[in-house]
Amino acid sequence: MTFPNPPWAVRPTWVHTASIPHPRPSWTNARLGPKLFPAMRRLSGGTTETRPIVVRSGESEAQVQKLETKEPQRSLVAEQAVAADVAYVRTVFVNLFLCGRPGVPRASWVLIDAGLPGSAPWIIAAAEERFGPGARPSAIVLTHGHFDHVGALRTLLNKWDVPIYAHRLELPYLTGRSAYPPPDPTVGGGAMAALSRFYPRGPYDFADRIQPLPADGSVPGMPGWRWIHTPGHTPGHVAFYRDSDRTLIAGDAFVTTKQESAIAALTQRPEIHGPPAYFTPDWASARRSVEELAALKPLRVGTGHGPPLEGQEMLQDLQRLARDFDRVAVPRRGRYVRESAVADESGVVAVPPPVPDPLPRILLGLGLALVAGAMVRRSTRAG
Ligand SMILES: [Zn+2]
Ligand SMILES: [Zn+2]
Repeated sequence: MTFPNPPWAVRPTWVHTASIPHPRPSWTNARLGPKLFPAMRRLSGGTTETRPIVVRSGESEAQVQKLETKEPQRSLVAEQAVAADVAYVRTVFVNLFLCGRPGVPRASWVLIDAGLPGSAPWIIAAAEERFGPGARPSAIVLTHGHFDHVGALRTLLNKWDVPIYAHRLELPYLTGRSAYPPPDPTVGGGAMAALSRFYPRGPYDFADRIQPLPADGSVPGMPGWRWIHTPGHTPGHVAFYRDSDRTLIAGDAFVTTKQESAIAALTQRPEIHGPPAYFTPDWASARRSVEELAALKPLRVGTGHGPPLEGQEMLQDLQRLARDFDRVAVPRRGRYVRESAVADESGVVAVPPPVPDPLPRILLGLGLALVAGAMVRRSTRAG
């Protein structure tokens, strides 16, 4: 039995920052993606293959299919590395990771994060493509509990009866006890930031399945990995790191695209970037977290948003981000810039007051102008 390799499925390669290939949008081929998600199908383009596939006109669709299902070309470094057991799946603009060797016995792999709401069919299909039909992880571990990282979790749990792990300080938002602090749509200056006012901020309730990550730093089901507490973006945010090959799954502690911009988020333009600003309520902690991750000198990183990156240039960019964090990552003004939200084991206890947000007033003004214009037009026509 063969498994199809749909455009949104597993990408085991890592991109060199030195030679970033242009993402190849999936809508350039005639093949149909998952019918359930037409919008996602259109937007989920991009591949990390380093060599473009040339499809000559006149080739039948079957041939095109064959060209695209062959193993992606690995870069030299990735071939020497052991990271072939970490694959990433992109659900529109959010990444999640499948950790484990393809072809391993059932349930000896782990899912890191659970994508956007509605993306469960993608995740299941990607997992089955990689690990075989009926594949089920031994656990799901979460970098943090934002809606775009736990969106499909309930649906996945209905299918997979597995434990979930998150940091102890993230549990209030995942067990129905506390919502995250309100987003700050005024920072970052992009459509994704402006839209953040509408993003759900919980709380979610997975109290029936979730438990704290082991206190000894180990990651259940992922031998050789450890979790690192990287607060700032959320109080209980964690990154996952494997020392043996310096592979880092950073979640949203930093990301590899300018997530505040819809264009960058959808085209996945690579760039080492601070955590998504609109959802980061504690910048001092966020800086310390990036410093700590940069000090590990990771060789390859996968983040919550943007393509996986590897190589010296990536590391230099990450170290630059840590060094210049206040200048390049922290917004100049915003709700959480001078004062952080305060949280404890029970959830959010204090948030600074909101800052003036010009957008609703601009939209209201536009709306009023439109109504006034229509009334004037009608009255002049009537007269
Ligand atoms: Zn987040
Ligand atoms: Zn995120």
